[in-house]
Amino acid sequence: MRADSPGHAAKFGSYSLMHMDSNKILDLQLVQSNEVGGSYHMEKEGLRRSLDHLQSNGLAVDYIVTDRHPQIQKFLRDLQITHFYDVWHFEKGLSKKLQKLAKNKDCQILNKWLHAIKNHVYYSATSSTSGREKVANWTSMINHMQDVHTHDNPIYPKCAHADRVSKDKNKWFQPGSVALYKVENTLTNKRVLKDMEKLSHHYQTSTLESFHSLVLRFAPKNVVFPYVGMLCR
Ligand SMILES: [Zn+2]
Repeated sequence: MRADSPGHAAKFGSYSLMHMDSNKILDLQLVQSNEVGGSYHMEKEGLRRSLDHLQSNGLAVDYIVTDRHPQIQKFLRDLQITHFYDVWHFEKGLSKKLQKLAKNKDCQILNKWLHAIKNHVYYSATSSTSGREKVANWTSMINHMQDVHTHDNPIYPKCAHADRVSKDKNKWFQPGSVALYKVENTLTNKRVLKDMEKLSHHYQTSTLESFHSLVLRFAPKNVVFPYVGMLCR
């Protein structure tokens, strides 16, 4: 969903549904915040109307890829529709937390890893279609950061990289260190693992976001349009 202004002030939300195989917009719903009891509810309502539109045209949904909007998670779970999360949105949130952590005096070693962890998010998400494998792949990072490249997990028993000696010996985390404890907590807490399991291994939402940038040319956010004007645009 694209809101006409950030936060709770949005008056309109335009919900676009894209068919990922063909990059075609299947449906576009313009929702007004005052008809759904506030801007927070616009996204779910937009999706609901779009799904109704598909259903009334006899089109079945295989799965849906969105960001991790909590309301949408619950809504799709209740409808028993398979839901995957866009990797970029997840990675952005996690990287923000890690950057903050790396500013702590006892976690400075983490700065050497921010880039590798970011890459590992994409690698883990796209390496497998199964949630369990994505998680196994992801959690192997904790060993890897301690220079341990074989793992107890039978799903992912060994790092996929070539055996090589790193030039920077100071980059490895020490077992039992405060830094490792804090980083492990951030990378493998329950919520992160739950999200990792559902990261989209195939399509992402970036193509849809390009479409939103195009819409922005016709409906700039600093101009107020009436409903019909907005709908036309
Ligand atoms: Zn490794």
